[in-house]
Amino acid sequence: MSAEQTAERSFERYFRANRLPHLWCPGCGNGIAMKAIVQAIEKKGLSQDDTVIVSGIGCSSRASGYMDFDTLHTAHGRAIPFATGIKLANPKLNVVVITGDGDCTAIGGNHFIHGCRRNIDLTVVLFNNNIYGMTGGQASPTTPLGAKATTAPYGSVDRPFDACRLAEASGATYVARSTAFHVRHLSDMIAGGFDNKGFSFIEAMVQCPTAYGRKNKMASPAAMMEWMRDHAVMKAAFDKLPDTEKSAGRFPIGLLYQSEDVDYDTAYEVVKERAGGAGK
Ligand code: SF4
Repeated sequence: MSAEQTAERSFERYFRANRLPHLWCPGCGNGIAMKAIVQAIEKKGLSQDDTVIVSGIGCSSRASGYMDFDTLHTAHGRAIPFATGIKLANPKLNVVVITGDGDCTAIGGNHFIHGCRRNIDLTVVLFNNNIYGMTGGQASPTTPLGAKATTAPYGSVDRPFDACRLAEASGATYVARSTAFHVRHLSDMIAGGFDNKGFSFIEAMVQCPTAYGRKNKMASPAAMMEWMRDHAVMKAAFDKLPDTEKSAGRFPIGLLYQSEDVDYDTAYEVVKERAGGAGK
């Protein structure tokens, strides 16, 4: 392989060298999900100048600072409203939201469901590590039942959200899931989201060995990735599993839902024309 090909494959041009090295813990899955996003951008030939990355607050949301696009690192839970404003101001931009499970489904939960409801043309990638990593390991809305966290030292009793089912029920028109173990598949799922004109939601299951793994007997990043390998099942195969297997911690990955509803920009243009016509 030539030096030129090696440089291209490293995807260096998509990252801000002066902001690296990143601050994520060794073995953290966030870097894998971040790379999957730029691979999807490359795959779809999206322009770096016309792509905006918006993030909230948390370990995963630090990604926007490392990525060499127009980026916005916003307030906790507020990435989707900021991204909505950007998209409405300039609909030709590709607007990508990076968010975590706490950011998206707790403090930002209402923004999330209303973004889905509006079917605004965003691609939202949720880095789901099942815990609040940055603030010390508190249980989040996706912490599995019985899993340990600093706020649930004997196991969580709160039933977790299935973020994909929440997105579908709220009106998202593209819903997919993959994991940091299935890197190429994850990148394909994100690329599919770029093709959808409307609210695209991709859940990327990522390992957090520091805050989640250590408390739940999976301190090694490799053990956490093996868990993803052994429990993630492609949707078509998952649908055929007996209920006993489904309830044994297995979860579906792949394209989970897609529909053709009109997106917010298109609907809003119609309203603008109507309003303009009324004033004539
Ligand atoms: Fe990653 Fe967890 Fe460390 Fe945060 S605390 S950087 S999510 S491993």
